[in-house]
Parts: sequence; C-alpha cells; structure tokens
Amino acid sequence: MSVLVYVEQVDGKFKKSVFEAVSYAKAIADIQGSSLTAISIGNVGEAELKELGKYGASKVLNVSNDQLKNFVNQAYASVIAEAAKKESAAVVVLSNSFSGKGLAPRVAVKLEAGLVDGAVELPKLDGGQFLVKKTAFSGKAFAITELTSAIKVIALNPNAFGVKESAVEATVEAFSPEIKATDFTAIVKEIVRATNKVSLPDAELVVSAGRGLKSPDNWGMIEELANLLGAATACSKPVSDADWRPHSEHVGQTGIAISPNLYIAIGISGAIQHLAGVSSSKVIVVINIDPEAPFFKVADYGIVGDAFVVVPKLIEALKAHKG
Ligand SMILES: Cc1cc2nc3c(=O)[nH]c(=O)nc-3n(C[C@H](O)[C@H](O)[C@H](O)COP(=O)(O)OP(=O)(O)OC[C@H]3O[C@@H](n4cnc5c(N)ncnc54)[C@H](O)[C@@H]3O)c2cc1C
Repeated sequence: MSVLVYVEQVDGKFKKSVFEAVSYAKAIADIQGSSLTAISIGNVGEAELKELGKYGASKVLNVSNDQLKNFVNQAYASVIAEAAKKESAAVVVLSNSFSGKGLAPRVAVKLEAGLVDGAVELPKLDGGQFLVKKTAFSGKAFAITELTSAIKVIALNPNAFGVKESAVEATVEAFSPEIKATDFTAIVKEIVRATNKVSLPDAELVVSAGRGLKSPDNWGMIEELANLLGAATACSKPVSDADWRPHSEHVGQTGIAISPNLYIAIGISGAIQHLAGVSSSKVIVVINIDPEAPFFKVADYGIVGDAFVVVPKLIEALKAHKG
C-alpha cells in the first residue's frame, strides 16, 4: 500500500503548488505508515525529478512519451490510474489546479474511488472514518466529507497546506504504461500563446483591478505593475462585462477561482461574488479609496488611497528596488 501524488510540470519545471501537493501526500503517507511515490508525465530532467525527494517522495515514476508531451486529459488520467494500480496506492493526491480539476474526477472514475476536490486540511482518521475538510459553495463554507471507498482521490487547494521539507533519497524509475488510442480522441496539436503574459489560473502573483479604475484606458499602470512583479492580471466581472478587459481575466464566483500567493486588488469593492474566487489567496493586498470597502475585511494589508496616486508610487518604488 502506498500514496501516489501526481506532479504537474510546465515546460519541464515544477511549480510551488507541486511541492505543496508532495508535502501533503507525504504527510498522508506518514499517517498511514506507507511510502510516497510521485508520477511525472512529460519531459522533466533527472535532477528536477530527484528534487521531489526533498519533500518526501522516495520513488518517482517518470513517463516520458512523445504522445504525452502536451497535456491530454483522458490519457493523463489513464496513466495516473495505471500508476496507482502499479503502486497499489490507497490514496492518490493531485493539486486542485486548472488541469488537476479536470484530472481528479477522471482518475477517481477509473479507480472506482471516492473523490474530494478542494481539500484544505489533512484527512482525519476518526473511528475508522476517513474524513477530509474541503471548501464548499465557492469558498463560502467548508464541508467535511467521508470517503468510504478502498481507494481515495484528493485534490488539494493551492496554499492550503504549505510546502514542508521531509528529505529522502528519491529513486527515478521509467514507467511506460500501455496507452489506448481511445484516450486520444481530443489531441492538442499545437500551443500558441496569445501573449507572453503569465497565465492567470496558475499564477502565483496576481494584480487585479475593478471599476474603480474608471476606464479601460487606465490599465497601463496595472499592466506595468504586473510586469514588474512577474504577475498575471485579473479583473472584476463588471470590468470584463464592459469589455474593458478580456473575459479570461474575470475572477470570482462566475469567473475563474484562483489561489495565488499574492492577490493585489485595486479599485475593487470586494463583493461576495468576487471574494468567492479569490479569498483563498495566501496574502491579499487591497488598494481602495473608500475605507469602508468590504474588501478590507479580508485583506492582510490595506492601503486607503486613490489608485491613481498609490499605483504609480508602487511602480516607482519597485523600479528603484530592482535598479
Ligand atoms: C450572480 C452574480 C455573480 C457575480 N459574479 C461575479 C464574479 O464572478 N466576479 C466579480 O468580480 N463580480 C461578480 N458579480 C458582481 C459583484 O456583485 C459586484 O458587482 C462586482 O464584483 C463589483 O465590481 P467592482 O468591485 O469592480 O466595482 P464596484 O462595486 O463599482 O467597486 C469599485 C470600487 O473601486 C473603489 N474606487 C473608486 N475609485 C477609486 C480610486 N480612484 N482608487 C481606488 N479605489 C477606487 C470604490 O471605492 C469601490 O470600492 C456577480 C454578481 C452576481 C449577482
């Protein structure tokens, strides 16, 4: 019996959320007195794979296959399920990232496993029950879910557990499961990036702005701040509804839900529907001219001030710092 964790790579590199998922899976393996295996799909170098040992993965299954170079939901789910069977995994952990949200239910179906997505804590074993706390109702509530199946699939919310080191020596093993043609009914042929900007769903830093910016012409300073920080840009719903910004930047209950390390909200009131998509960010900074704006109630840091004064000062300070 073991615990399996899927380690998602982007251009051959692992992001922080992967190390967090490995740390979380290692803690579950410790609770169960079992070992932790990671499964990596795509072209990742040996040194990068061995790095997973730092967070507790004693074995890394490496699937390097040209057919799987680009993300194919159904095929990746089959590979993860095959790895779980090979390792006799009792628990499979994924990050509840953009791709994790698509993979976790598919893996669960293939393994006839119970699934908890959006997990925020380690499972509790209570009188034979396997209980997992997860977010519910767009982050407005928590639910305790009991998994009763033999195999359990858990998708961990980014920033819910943190990265914890637990160094072991990781051995890397090539893994070549049989892949069926039926897993390739929809194939990504080419990825053409629309922009060079950081992609929002998995961004670790996000600069977001709302109707307080008054006009689409005022987004230059938001983009400049984001570029200086290496952050993605986001916006509130009315802003994308008015076509000030593309709909792909709309965050919240009806937009994308994100959990970056840092979310800077500029000229956004903090309506409950907006908070539903951003409140699990690790650190929230709010810049708003109205000291009564509801966003300040959930902010870690708040600046009461005019965005058109504060943001240029931030840009100036960042430039000075970088210089
Ligand atoms: C079913 C439903 C779903 C929804 N889903 C979403 C969703 O997914 N995402 C979402 O964002 N909204 C959503 N909404 C809309 C939501 O209720 C709010 O209307 C919206 O979030 C408000 O956007 P805003 O904060 O940009 O604008 P406003 O509410 O107009 O707030 C603008 C803010 O800017 C501040 N401000 C003004 N001038 C300045 C300045 N110079 N400097 C600094 N601050 C300034 C103001 O004090 C104010 O707080 C939904 C609504 C419904 C009914």
